[in-house]
Amino acid sequence: MPISTAPYKRTYKHTKTRGNEGTVRCGKCGRLVPKWKTFVTYQGFRINDPTLRKQIDKKMLHLFSRKIRVCPKCARFYHIVDKSKSIKKSHMFK
Ligand SMILES: [Zn+2]
Repeated sequence: MPISTAPYKRTYKHTKTRGNEGTVRCGKCGRLVPKWKTFVTYQGFRINDPTLRKQIDKKMLHLFSRKIRVCPKCARFYHIVDKSKSIKKSHMFK
C-alpha cells in the first residue's frame, strides 16, 4: 500500500454534495454547528403513557413536541447523549 495517493481526492463523508455542509443553529445555545454534528431531540410536552398515545392523533402529538437540533456540547450538558459513549455510537441509537 502506498503511503500517499498522488491525486488526492476529497471525500464528502457527511454530505452527499460538495461545498457548504449544512449548518444549523443549536436549539439550546444558538451556536452554528454543522448539521451532521448535531443531535436531534424533542422538546416540550411528552406523553409517556402508550394507551394515551393511541387515543391522541399522531398529528396532534406532533404539535406537542418540537424537534430541535443541539450541538454536541449541549447534548452532553443536557444528558441527551452519554458522556462515555462516542458520538458515533449515540448516532446509531437514533
Ligand atoms: Zn448548543
